[in-house]
Amino acid sequence: MTVHTHILGFPRIGAARELKLALESHWRGEVSEAALEATGRQLRARHWALQRDAGLDYVTVGDFAFYDQVANHIQLLGCEPARFSFAPEQSPLSRYFTMARGADTHAAHAGCGHAHHAHAAGTAALEMTKWFDTNYHYLVPELSPQTRFSLACERLLAEVAEAQALGHQVKAALIGPLTFLWLGKEKTPGESSFDRLALLEQLLPVYGALLDRLKQQGVAWVQLDEPILGLDLPGAWRSAFESAYWQLNQVGINILLATYFSPLEENLSLTCRLPVAGLHVDGIRAPHELISVTDWLPAHKVLSVGIVDGRNIWRTDLDEALAVLQPLAAKRNGHLWLAPSCSLLHVPFSLAAETELDGDIQSWLAFATEKLSEIAVLKGALAGRPDDAALAASRLAIAGRRASPRVHRPQVAQRLQALTPTIDRRDSSFPQRQAMQRARLQLPDFPTTTIGSFPQTAAIRAARASFKRGELAVNDYEQQMRAEIAHAVSRQEALGLDVLVHGEAERNDMVEYFGEQLDGFIFTRHGWVQSYGSRCVKPPVIYGDVQRPTAMTVEWTVHAQSLTHKPVKGMLTGPVTILQWSFVRDDQPRATTALQLALAMRDEVQDLETAGIGIIQIDEPAIREGLPLRRGRWDAYLDWATRAFRIAASVVSDTTQIHTHMCYAEFNDILPQIAAMDADVITIETSRSDMELLKGFGQFQYPNEIGPGVYDIHSPRLPSTLDMVKLLQKASAVIPPANLWVNPDCGLKTRGWAETEAALKNMVAAAQQMRAAA
Ligand code: GLN
Ligand code: ZN
Repeated sequence: MTVHTHILGFPRIGAARELKLALESHWRGEVSEAALEATGRQLRARHWALQRDAGLDYVTVGDFAFYDQVANHIQLLGCEPARFSFAPEQSPLSRYFTMARGADTHAAHAGCGHAHHAHAAGTAALEMTKWFDTNYHYLVPELSPQTRFSLACERLLAEVAEAQALGHQVKAALIGPLTFLWLGKEKTPGESSFDRLALLEQLLPVYGALLDRLKQQGVAWVQLDEPILGLDLPGAWRSAFESAYWQLNQVGINILLATYFSPLEENLSLTCRLPVAGLHVDGIRAPHELISVTDWLPAHKVLSVGIVDGRNIWRTDLDEALAVLQPLAAKRNGHLWLAPSCSLLHVPFSLAAETELDGDIQSWLAFATEKLSEIAVLKGALAGRPDDAALAASRLAIAGRRASPRVHRPQVAQRLQALTPTIDRRDSSFPQRQAMQRARLQLPDFPTTTIGSFPQTAAIRAARASFKRGELAVNDYEQQMRAEIAHAVSRQEALGLDVLVHGEAERNDMVEYFGEQLDGFIFTRHGWVQSYGSRCVKPPVIYGDVQRPTAMTVEWTVHAQSLTHKPVKGMLTGPVTILQWSFVRDDQPRATTALQLALAMRDEVQDLETAGIGIIQIDEPAIREGLPLRRGRWDAYLDWATRAFRIAASVVSDTTQIHTHMCYAEFNDILPQIAAMDADVITIETSRSDMELLKGFGQFQYPNEIGPGVYDIHSPRLPSTLDMVKLLQKASAVIPPANLWVNPDCGLKTRGWAETEAALKNMVAAAQQMRAAA
């Protein structure tokens, strides 16, 4: 029985986010390149030692990056975009950070849970986008007919040498050539058409040379990540795999082709036939394909099974895993590799730091470090050397979780059972509601509003921090927040906005704020996961049935409404966004958790309405991010996701106006489903695409009211009234003007008050001009 163990990658930010601290001090000029490099070396050494001490057969080298693994490959493959015109004397590391962060800014990546780049005038940073369906963002390679590749592998080879010098058995990990090209963006000067796949021929010899260098350095295995094999690939890309890997295989180093995140489906037999020494598949996302992969993959090849969930934080059910592995091991004649399903980049570092988690729940979890041990225990059990104590502890924890009354709340299950088919329907159709809402709200044409948050000033953040530390009494904290709300309301009144908001001063984060008040959530102390560069997020953990013990936003909203005669819009985060930005249960479908969240938010919507709030916004910026990687699965997701939104929203009477907000990304391919959410008003980010997005809404004849963002809140530039009038005129050409709202394109929490007031003053003037011209 030869069972080998390895991982696809490890979190690089460090147990105490050492890399983040070092990077940010380096960018401030306080830490030299040499010192930063030393921190990197230290972290790598620690993380390799963890892998070895856990008993893994290989340590993985090449997963470390000072900012992003794709950016590493841009340098490794010598394809830094020419537009940066780097001076020859500029160090590789400073070029790297220029590509990542732009040349003349501190790269104000202001956030709505996703990343934005500042519009640097000179050398703008590379674009960032989401790594497959994760919340990690990579830097997008820019590819053009002029792109040339060359080998610049000193950093990678040095890391390999570092690991070897520490006595480790090394497996090098790289992004495969096809996935690298796929992730790139075609930048074509002029309009000429160009297909980045055409660069493959030129790229392969560079990969070949790289593999050769690794071979010379004594590396036995190279992992080449090709997760695009889990996507719907165009035919040309599929056929490119065969010739590409045939060519790379000539080098004579063992290639482990790594796939993850998504089933292989129609690419399965192609993938199994590729001329490589081994294949890694994701046994968590595609357990149903394990048997066919085992059958298709030639007997002499290595099969690496991703059996521990690399995307979630739950302890593995080792008995269940062994039951899956045993028949596979039999079929492979005892030859099997074991690994987590994907890189551990997407889970926090270690549970050891969680000293304040409830004991029960702590025993149900496994972060990156604990997952290493799980792999090792599985290997022992398969090879006939079971670690009985570890297996028993795992059994106890799994059984405890399964039976826990904290996870399973009968009243939540009963409520789900009892849902009627029309629970997600408003009483009347939109045109009828629209008439009633107009009669009630008496808003002018082109009504003005904002997306919810006002500046989170230093004073607000300081108050929250000292309240959390227990230094500021509840009453004092609440009084200060009420004063902030009063300030926001009076500013909005002075500006002449039509629909006001309370400003979200009391909220740290749009998901955390609600998670902290709902049953079924816990929060870790140090459960950080890299989002991009030095930025980390600490997602809440949904461990049990969700319900809302008590109203969450009513007091603040009612307080705001008591201060003004204008309508105040209540502000909630939607069920899909809460789900999307949390670690979710793996013991029930995501759809079920979404439904529970929907009912909890429905209760809040109901309470706001009862308290006299006439307009309620339910933010769903993450609805598009939840789309499955394969199109064939979109409909199923969109069905339950939009239904969850409607269930939260549809409790109100016809005269209450429901808003939603979305930002980031193209919505044109899911417009029917957005319309099916049936919000009375949708506000969306459009200003950066110069209203391009709206064309889609126009062509589709989007039936309800729309507030296209008229200025980009991520840009420090003050938008002029004229700019905004022009955008509104453009919008009026495709959307019936009677359905148009006027608002910024996202929340204002990352801005200062002075710029916010200046921009909103111009925005209100723009709405007035539109009314005058009508
Ligand atoms: N209401 C939130 C805010 O204004 C919406 C944030 C978002 O779009 N992600 O900050
Ligand atoms: Zn937004």
